[in-house]
Amino acid sequence: HRAGLVRLKGRDAVSRDGVPIRLLANIELPEDARVAEESGAQGVGLYRTEFLYMNRKELPSEEEQYDAYARIVSAVSGTITIRTLDLGADKQVDSGRSHGPLPTNPALGLRAIRLCLKEPELFRIQVRALLRASAHGRVQIMLPMISNLQEFRQAATLIETARAELRAEGRPFAENVPIGAMIEVPAAAIAAPMLARHARFFSIGTNDLIQYTLAIDRVDDEVNYLYDPLHPAVLHLIRHTIESGRGAGIPVAMCGEMAGDPRFTRLLLGLGLTDFSMHPNSILEIKQIVVESDIARLRAAMTGALDSGDPQTLRDRIAELDAP
Ligand code: PEP
Ligand code: MG
Repeated sequence: HRAGLVRLKGRDAVSRDGVPIRLLANIELPEDARVAEESGAQGVGLYRTEFLYMNRKELPSEEEQYDAYARIVSAVSGTITIRTLDLGADKQVDSGRSHGPLPTNPALGLRAIRLCLKEPELFRIQVRALLRASAHGRVQIMLPMISNLQEFRQAATLIETARAELRAEGRPFAENVPIGAMIEVPAAAIAAPMLARHARFFSIGTNDLIQYTLAIDRVDDEVNYLYDPLHPAVLHLIRHTIESGRGAGIPVAMCGEMAGDPRFTRLLLGLGLTDFSMHPNSILEIKQIVVESDIARLRAAMTGALDSGDPQTLRDRIAELDAP
């Protein structure tokens, strides 16, 4: 099976009816940049930066971060979407933990962009390093766990301040680095048309979007039987986000696990998703499905299916989509 897939490596991910699809890699470690390049991905849709902060007592300095980001950015030939720190909840580290007792509901607490806005110095150092790394390739900055427009604008203002500092210091950076929002909180998905007027791109984080929409802790085994990417509420939020992005003329990617799961590829193509970011190992398998798909047919099949309101109808429809 894999040997057959390798033939797809140099081939573009274009559907049978001629729609180009972008397949991107999710990476975490510095050496993953090479893995991503070799996977046939067209770029990096999610670089999780938490790794730099893990297993250590001291926070990484701007210089250390700049070195790491510059190396990774140089190793990726396409666009690389770098996510700012997503600490807290399921991503705890020694150096980033704020003082005091652990919150009762860490997933609903001070995590990701909330933590960065509360501790702007932490954010400032990372953003300066990211902007400086943008001199070495095509960088986009992505903000995790945005739940309202105010957070996005506040973060954008801090990034603008960092730009002004670098300019004054005469340090090189790319002037037009796009700032985008992860859509992984239901409020952000519902308010997507409003956010789309400010964000340059969206990326749907289904791991958290499913957790928050269905009110199930993603790390609690007792409730993982309820974790359902096909829940109609989840699919409505995904479709609404894709359509809001399209309406505003900004790209919409998906970088949660769902994007790299072959069970959902046809469904997502049918909902209009064009940019999929996943573990590099999944790229060829997903590409295989893309090149065999007739997207116009998938879109027609999905029309109305979501609005039936009946999960079983939806499951049946998806099963039909999967038939060869
Ligand atoms: C997500 O939530 O879908 C996502 C991609 O981010 P993470 O899994 O790192 O929270
Ligand atoms: Mg997430």
